[in-house]
Amino acid sequence: MQILLIEDEQKLAGALREGLSAEGYTVRVARSGEEGFYQVHTEPFDIIILDVMLPGRSGLEILKTMRDSGIRTPVLMLTARDTTEDRVRGLDTGADDYLVKPFAYNELVARIRALLRRGAPDLGARLAISDLEMDVVRHVVTRSGKPLDLTAREFEILKYLLQNQGKVVSREMLSRDVWKEVSRHTPLDNVIDVHIARLRRKIDQQFEVKLLQTVRGVGFTLRAET
Ligand code: CA
Repeated sequence: MQILLIEDEQKLAGALREGLSAEGYTVRVARSGEEGFYQVHTEPFDIIILDVMLPGRSGLEILKTMRDSGIRTPVLMLTARDTTEDRVRGLDTGADDYLVKPFAYNELVARIRALLRRGAPDLGARLAISDLEMDVVRHVVTRSGKPLDLTAREFEILKYLLQNQGKVVSREMLSRDVWKEVSRHTPLDNVIDVHIARLRRKIDQQFEVKLLQTVRGVGFTLRAET
C-alpha cells in the first residue's frame, strides 16, 4: 500500500513515515504544497494524507485540482484546531475524512485502515445529462451509448458545462476556467464560439433532443430540449 504524506512539519512527517513504514506501508513524503501537487499528478497512491497549511500551495488547492482532474484517491486531511471552516471546505472539496492536530498516532492508523477498506469513493468520475455520459477518468464521452470523438478542448468545455449543470456558463467563465486566461487582454469570445459550435455539432446534431443551449447575451447551459 502506497501512502503519500504531504506535510511540511519535518518532525511530524518523519515520525509518521517511521511509524507507518513499520506497519508495512510504503510512505512517500512531500514537504511542500508544490511537491505534493507534483506527486499527486505523477504517481498513483492508495491514500493521501494531506496537511491543509502548506507552503507554496495550500492543501485545499491541491485537493480541488486533483478532484477536478478526476483523481479519486482517498484523502485524509490534517487540520489545525479551531479551523472549522477549513474542515468544512475540505469535505466539500472532496476530502474523505479529517483529523485535527494534534492527534493520536493510533487514531491516524485507524482512519487510514477505514479509508482503505472503503476504497475510492465515486467522486465525480462520471458526469451525465440525459443520455450523454462522460467518464472523466477514462476520457470517454458517449451519447445513447455511442462514443463521441471530442478534442481535448471540447472535452474540457463539456466537462465544465456538466459540472455546472443548472447554471448558465458565461464566456468569461469559460475563458477563466477552461482557457485559464486570468486577464481578458486577449478577448477569446470568437474562439469560444467556434469551439462551442463544433461541440454542439458533435453532441447534438444527430439527436432529436438538443442539450447545448445558448442563453442569448449571457452564455451557455446544458438542458434537454426538443
Ligand atoms: Ca503545515
